[in-house]
Amino acid sequence: MKVAFYKHQLSSDNADSIAAVLDSPILTSGQVGRDVEARLQDYFGVPHTYLTNSWTNGALATLLAMDLKPGDEVIVPAMTFIATANVVELLGAKPVFCDVCPDTLLMTPNNIRSVLSNKTRAVIPVHLYGQMVDIAAIRAVVGPSVRIVEDCAHCFEGTLHGERPGTHSDAAIFSFYATKNIACGEGGAIITRDDALAGKLAATRLHGMSAGAIDRFRDQKYNHWDMQCLGVKANLPDLLAALLPPQIEAVDEKLKRREEIGSAYEAGFGSDDRIRLQAPVKDAVHARHLFPVCVEEAIRDDLILALNAAGVGCTVNYRSVPTLTYYREKYGYGPKDFPNSYAWGQGTISLPLYPTLKDDEQKFVIETVRRELDQLILKAA
Ligand SMILES: *Cc1c(COP(=O)(O)O)cnc(C)c1O
Repeated sequence: MKVAFYKHQLSSDNADSIAAVLDSPILTSGQVGRDVEARLQDYFGVPHTYLTNSWTNGALATLLAMDLKPGDEVIVPAMTFIATANVVELLGAKPVFCDVCPDTLLMTPNNIRSVLSNKTRAVIPVHLYGQMVDIAAIRAVVGPSVRIVEDCAHCFEGTLHGERPGTHSDAAIFSFYATKNIACGEGGAIITRDDALAGKLAATRLHGMSAGAIDRFRDQKYNHWDMQCLGVKANLPDLLAALLPPQIEAVDEKLKRREEIGSAYEAGFGSDDRIRLQAPVKDAVHARHLFPVCVEEAIRDDLILALNAAGVGCTVNYRSVPTLTYYREKYGYGPKDFPNSYAWGQGTISLPLYPTLKDDEQKFVIETVRRELDQLILKAA
């Protein structure tokens, strides 16, 4: 048997929605995207949504709209994908890493308190693997003037205390990158409850322009666009937005299958003391984007090779960001600086998790992991 690490959920069945865009005059951002934005507003219960062509460009547009400047500090977790820190670095501001809880792998109010300074302008909490950070608790620590931007790349459908992302932050940003729970190849979205921020975002996600292509002929006259601030090119074309509506419609139904798979992995590995799992957060719905396990650092890379050879696709999400060469050399970080993040990053392996993964495939993954672990540990002894 061969089990792919990831299978996207799109097919030629989705071609009609793209054909409809091809038959319309507008290929870039138009009515199709606006309708998707309205759906997202509904789903998250927020007044403003902007589709973007990636999480990364959405985050750049958001931080520009927040007027982030060189010298400002932005707190980010050490255990995340590099993009969370890179967007801060790209704007000339300083990403200030903090460690994560060794059990949930999420940043905590205490971790944040330990690196908070009078230069802190923003915090970017990451709902890692799909499990939500307590944003209200972070707000209580940082106060009202520090901006909170949720990295929801792993967490579209998750909740905490019954609340969705975007409830307690200044903005929440999603990714529709190829492997995410909702995917259109490349894409993303920003949601916010802040009217003033939303007004600025309309410009910063499109070069800083005051009016997009479809607004220029509104009210029977030509509306000249102006540029009052600097922006990035972050708008999503309708060609890709057209793939999103059926996925948004089905996301809660698909979550049930993701939850079944997550629980079956937990049952399969929970009693194995050679394997560490992400601890559950109380009163949270986990979006089950990824299923990582953590093994002894000394055998992790051999286990990846063994799993691949045995037909089980797997990958690493993630090695601790401050220990990657760019950040290590620029800021002089070492393994001891963020020990929980480092330890997890040296031992973690992500296993296949997607709605079309079959029961017998998952059983094969669990058996293969346990068997290959047995053999590697025997060999090491
Ligand atoms: C995928 C991912 C991103 C970047 O998303 P893009 O849409 O590819 O820019 C950011 N943060 C996390 C945690 C991610 O997993």
